Amino acid sequence: MSSSIKITAIKAFSDNYIWAIINNNSLALVDPGDANVCIEFIEKHQLKLGAILITHHHPDHTGGIEKLRSYCQNQQWPLTVYGPKNENIPFNNVKLVEKDTVDLADMSISLQVIDLPGHTLGHIAYFTNDSNEPSLFCGDTLFSGGCGRLFEGSPQQMLNSLTKLANLPENTKVYCAHEYTQANLKFALTVEPDNQALVDYSKRVNELRAQKQATIPTSIRVEKQVNPFLRSHEATVQASAMKFDNTPQTSAIDTFTAIRRWKDQF
Ligand SMILES: [Zn+2]
Repeated sequence: MSSSIKITAIKAFSDNYIWAIINNNSLALVDPGDANVCIEFIEKHQLKLGAILITHHHPDHTGGIEKLRSYCQNQQWPLTVYGPKNENIPFNNVKLVEKDTVDLADMSISLQVIDLPGHTLGHIAYFTNDSNEPSLFCGDTLFSGGCGRLFEGSPQQMLNSLTKLANLPENTKVYCAHEYTQANLKFALTVEPDNQALVDYSKRVNELRAQKQATIPTSIRVEKQVNPFLRSHEATVQASAMKFDNTPQTSAIDTFTAIRRWKDQF
């Protein structure tokens, strides 16, 4: 990614992050659930919106599209809405599946599409590795310390999706769509109380949150150390899952299924 590109969070609702990708005065928005906060941001920074990237169909990710589209029409700005092919996204101009590429030519950025079924069935992520700063926009699939709920997909689908993300370069910055880190880490510490990397990370997160600062972006490296949903192959996580459901855990999928169920009732 060219060094002139900046990525900033626009806060929405109680804990959503709408990601603003900015190059000079050009802007792309990831998952704009609320148009008003985006328009305020556009006007404050005198930007020109040209692209909307959608990860999945939930209203807190798509709710702002229609109003932003009218806003761009009034400004006479051409706007392209990108989104998953397999979900019903309002005004979706470019329908994407795995291995498609999104070229935001005016911003010198190109993003690869990754299919991530689990939270929803058509959920996709956008990944760019244009320079030495790989970045991932993964919606509600991978969170810091956690993962999305399984509203539509199976545990196996979600585990496969998370494994794809775990195989990205370790220095990939992870831009997920919610500030859920602190609550996720409470659960993670219950699963792995003796994981020192997790204990240390949790302290840093508590300090950041005490100052009302964002804990996102995180990185693939950090998540592989602290996130129980990326660690279902680890003996410590398997042992803890076994205590939870009183069944011997012999595979990553059994363990993943157990800890996802455990987190749902935590
Ligand atoms: Zn969602």
